[in-house]
Amino acid sequence: MSEPYTSNTITPLFSAGAIEKRVSEIGKAIANDFALVTPECPLLLIAVLKGAFIFAADLLRTITIPCCIDFVHASSYGSEKTSSGSVSIKHNLTITDRHLLIVEDIIDTGLTMQQITAELLTMKPASLGICTLLDKPEARKHPVDITYTGFMVPDTFIVGYGIDYNEHYRELPFLGVLNS
Ligand code: 5GP
Repeated sequence: MSEPYTSNTITPLFSAGAIEKRVSEIGKAIANDFALVTPECPLLLIAVLKGAFIFAADLLRTITIPCCIDFVHASSYGSEKTSSGSVSIKHNLTITDRHLLIVEDIIDTGLTMQQITAELLTMKPASLGICTLLDKPEARKHPVDITYTGFMVPDTFIVGYGIDYNEHYRELPFLGVLNS
């Protein structure tokens, strides 16, 4: 069972309605930008587990062009709120000559995304874009070329809408700052 949510523990940042509106806008932009993909070679969303699973599921349903989804598992945070500084990536993807769009929850230092893109590019996709729900530009140490961003956020610890703290709070329909 999840830890109880109170307004003392989490300060709401983006409501469920605001997220739904923004996700739909991004879905429309993606459908527009990839209008030339065909059912024979659909756009491939690659969602980064676990944090992006709700975002990716909602985004997928707003995209009106031929589209598939697959997953990579990346972990950089342990039980604390700071990155461990090393990223473990697991996947079983075949992506050569495919148009890829990585779907991530948060880009913070940029290390995770740099490592995922470096690994996927070795398999020679036709193109590779990055879509992140949240961007924390103040925390960036490794440059990342982001194609679509949901919201810019300050350098605070965010939970909700699939994003956890110690596996808690993923179920919240909104995004908020976890107060320390
Ligand atoms: P980076 O490698 O860019 O420093 O970190 C990216 C990953 O760290 C994200 O995919 C996410 O899993 C985790 N992360 C970064 N910032 C936050 C945050 O504010 N809240 C949570 N729950 N995870 C975060």
